[in-house]
Amino acid sequence: MLKTNSYAAHTAGSPLAPYSFERREPGPEDVLIDILYCGVCHSDIHQARDEWGGSIFPMVPGHEIVGRVAAVGDKVTRFKVGDIAGVGCMVDSCRTCHPCHDDHEQFCEKGAAWTYNGTEMDRHTPTFGGYSTRIVVAERFTLKVPAGLDLAAAAPLLCAGITTYSPLRQWQCSPGNRVGVVGLGGLGHMAVKLAASMGAEVTVLSTSAAKGADALRLGAHAFESTRDQATFKKLAGRLDLIIDTISAPHDYNAYLGLLRVRGAMVLLGVPPQPTPVAAFMLISGNRRLAGSLIGGIAETQEMLDHCAKHGIVSDIEVIPIQKINEAYDRMMKGDVRYRFVIDIASLAG
Ligand code: NAP
Ligand code: ZN
Ligand code: ZN
Repeated sequence: MLKTNSYAAHTAGSPLAPYSFERREPGPEDVLIDILYCGVCHSDIHQARDEWGGSIFPMVPGHEIVGRVAAVGDKVTRFKVGDIAGVGCMVDSCRTCHPCHDDHEQFCEKGAAWTYNGTEMDRHTPTFGGYSTRIVVAERFTLKVPAGLDLAAAAPLLCAGITTYSPLRQWQCSPGNRVGVVGLGGLGHMAVKLAASMGAEVTVLSTSAAKGADALRLGAHAFESTRDQATFKKLAGRLDLIIDTISAPHDYNAYLGLLRVRGAMVLLGVPPQPTPVAAFMLISGNRRLAGSLIGGIAETQEMLDHCAKHGIVSDIEVIPIQKINEAYDRMMKGDVRYRFVIDIASLAG
């Protein structure tokens, strides 16, 4: 067994603290990765604080993992020791059901093995995430991080990147489309960069007026404050697609009113409580309200390659693991520009 240092939440109410556990030895199809960087996703906070219910403790969060391959099993063909590899939100799935066969492993009928706060496919062994020194993952769920990407800034692509890339592709984001990005945090800023790279005209809708200049620098064409009610009049009926990344409860109806006829709003944020939707907001204009969950492994690789081609990475603030609780508090205030990434070297020793 491989002794692994980490930070874990021990209960929903407690701050994360040092924790040591054991990883399995890599099997024939496994890759052992020494973790270099791990991004901090708002889903880490929701789950560490048990905001969605059913959290498993102790919990080692982290599903935006970049590291160096330290060992490979006999049957591994795509990775060798020393390669840079990535791991996102899943470490395994049944590999045989229809969704798995169709490259939508996140919808595995047997339930994917989530990178943390879940179990391996034996449905017994708990999974522990990337706030840790190393991880053992099936080759099939290990991503190639293209050369040329800054490794720390590439880590958030493994969740924030694929989660925003996938709905933009699903809704055929293309040149000239008017895309609204709601909430400029980790997911939001990736949505801006990716939509702009696909030729869209991007409008950021944010509660934080201070992020206006950044929005334009990230590639948006316009920035509008959602604290100003005039924004909802000015943009009424104008947007083709809205990517909603807000992590807290908010009124979907107000944003649906910004869609043009047959436009779509895609929910990515997961506020813990349900929100009422007025039928009239969908019926008038045949508007569509949809959701999207991360993306499959093949699409994640496609996203990484797209980012390498377009020179896209995340805007990050690198922190030592000892600052993780402070980072969570800052994210709760929308105070992140635009993703915290943990330097895992701070866990050494
Ligand atoms: P984040 O970095 O904390 O960003 C969230 C942004 O939402 C904030 O920066 C803020 O933007 C806005 N916001 C926060 N509270 C708000 C409030 N009360 N009212 C209005 N706006 C508010 O979070 P993230 O990592 O991007 O994650 C966002 C959400 O997506 C989370 O719920 C997370 O669990 C979910 N998620 C979903 C998937 C999926 O597969 N669907 C994958 C990953 C994450 P402004 O300052 O610009 O207003
Ligand atoms: Zn995430
Ligand atoms: Zn499956």
